[in-house]
Amino acid sequence: MKRIISLLVLAALLLSGCAGRQTEKKQYQATFLTLFDTVTSIVGRADSEEAFRQTAQSIHDELLEYHQLFDIYNDYDGVANLKTINDNAGLAPVKVDGRILALLKDCKTYYEATGGKVNVAMGSVLRLWHEAREDGINDPVHAYLPDRAKLEAAAEHMDLSAVIVDEAASTVFITDPQVRLDVGAIAKGWSVQQVCASAPSGLLISVGGNVCATGPKDETGTPWVVAVQNPDGGDEHLHTLYLSRGSMVTSGDYQRAYVVDGELYHHIIDPNTLYPSTQWRSVTIVCPDSGLADALSTALFVLSLEEGQKLLEQFDAKAMWVDREGNRFYSPEFENLIRT
Ligand code: ADP
Ligand code: MG
Repeated sequence: MKRIISLLVLAALLLSGCAGRQTEKKQYQATFLTLFDTVTSIVGRADSEEAFRQTAQSIHDELLEYHQLFDIYNDYDGVANLKTINDNAGLAPVKVDGRILALLKDCKTYYEATGGKVNVAMGSVLRLWHEAREDGINDPVHAYLPDRAKLEAAAEHMDLSAVIVDEAASTVFITDPQVRLDVGAIAKGWSVQQVCASAPSGLLISVGGNVCATGPKDETGTPWVVAVQNPDGGDEHLHTLYLSRGSMVTSGDYQRAYVVDGELYHHIIDPNTLYPSTQWRSVTIVCPDSGLADALSTALFVLSLEEGQKLLEQFDAKAMWVDREGNRFYSPEFENLIRT
């Protein structure tokens, strides 16, 4: 709920930041609550409310298809999705939509680039954390940590090379019956990127804080203003940034977390320790590609500052880190984006 409220605050801020400019086109906003288990907001100018509504609806419909394809928890009639692939681990290849093949191909690239820190084959480990977190959120008094022995047993089965993507046959086969896919670190940003690539210019699309601008917000080239959330919550943002085109994505320890014995345990897991990474409160990435931004935000969250800086050198991306004492660190060009 906190996450939803803070995102709505962000949406409101984006809107108010855009008011007051008079040309014949007006600005509209649409909000959807049913995609990727988070809040989606679309803001932009259009000739009429009806024209905007149609644009927003088609973006919603496309995102809904991605949501269903990449879902690991639910089945949908007539859809072979990631859950279908997981259910068939060790049993049979599953014929899937080309968008699943394309996502998994990029996931392999990001796995290699991050030295395995972002590993979508870690589903068996992540599921143990997911279950413990859901139970802990529903019943905080009895909140517990995943069993260490179970975590270690699951970690025996997180080898991405067990995921065989056959592009010619359009199939995916997990050869190890205990390996599971979980694309939570990448899929939202990746889907936003696909949608943004074909959306009209001049929109700002946010799916749970994976923000993408398809062009400046008006004909005179005025950039959008987007906010970097304070990990401690509240209405105070750490920064507002200019964004005309491209993406801003934040990974934070406040996004999905629960408390055990007074300690916060969040949803970004270091594949080496099998525990939530504790060094950072949040990492924000700004770069042209939203899928890459999502992968990098998770990767930098589990890497040290030096390792993260080194990784960034390979990409056209800027980053800002916030540590547990509230200290902020910036990659060299990030500060050029800051408005306040
Ligand atoms: P959010 O989904 O809140 O935007 P992230 O992009 O950082 O945050 O993704 C976190 C999600 O990614 C987790 O919920 C989990 O499903 C998955 N995940 C967590 N740690 C890793 C990891 N080291 N490698 C791959 N996926 C991970
Ligand atoms: Mg991510």
